[in-house]
Amino acid sequence: MAVSARRRKIVAGNWKMNKTVPEALALVRELRGTVAAVGDVVEVVVAPTFLALQPLHVALEGAPLQLAAQNCHWESSGAFTGEVSAPMLAELGCAYVIVGHSERRQLFGETDESVNKKARAVVAAGMKPILCVGETLAEREANQTLDVVERQVRGGLAGIEAKDVATFVLAYEPVWAIGTGRNATSAQAQEVHAAIRGLLGRLYDGETAGRVRIQYGGSVKPDNAAELLGQPDIDGALVGGASLKAGDFAAIIKAAT
Ligand code: PEP
Repeated sequence: MAVSARRRKIVAGNWKMNKTVPEALALVRELRGTVAAVGDVVEVVVAPTFLALQPLHVALEGAPLQLAAQNCHWESSGAFTGEVSAPMLAELGCAYVIVGHSERRQLFGETDESVNKKARAVVAAGMKPILCVGETLAEREANQTLDVVERQVRGGLAGIEAKDVATFVLAYEPVWAIGTGRNATSAQAQEVHAAIRGLLGRLYDGETAGRVRIQYGGSVKPDNAAELLGQPDIDGALVGGASLKAGDFAAIIKAAT
């Protein structure tokens, strides 16, 4: 079996600071049919605000739709006003936690070191990180894309064992493509995904590199999803804006089948 054949596609919706709890419940209700229809072929994940995690966990009982948190703190408890820990999220039924999203890096000062601490906390709590990496427009224009992404992958995974890395989802999200309507071309994305997989092979081994799923994120829409998801090293999508509309998100999920 080809290594890529073992990787199940994963489509995740990052709702960011959108959707009240009733709106979140309504959106997943609309998605249930699509998710049931794709069955085991595509893993579908939604990342609502912290507030909606518990109500969605209850509402989703038995449904093949996984929950992700958008962030966490690296400590399990303590005097960290306003923060939420990984064990707290695991208890609420989260399967994944997004770490290192570019908005958190750019707006909240997250570094490769803090992202690494968060990723370790997520693993320790029995969940899987969705670790985001990606270059800015200036970095791409200066031909630094692969260097930047390599630094972020190395930093984010520092000290984490192969058996744990194999459970990670990496998300390649060029910053210039997030929320801009300007997606990377499938060739641009595939080039970076292949480079990340090559790096994983050098840092760990071929088996681990072949197991890690690498999502593309950045203005994924129903009309570009199939082309992007058709690339050999693109194992899914991390979707922002288009995941807020049930019809658009459903179309992207179907494009992954
Ligand atoms: C994101 O924020 O992870 C993202 C990919 O957003 P959008 O799809 O809106 O570009």
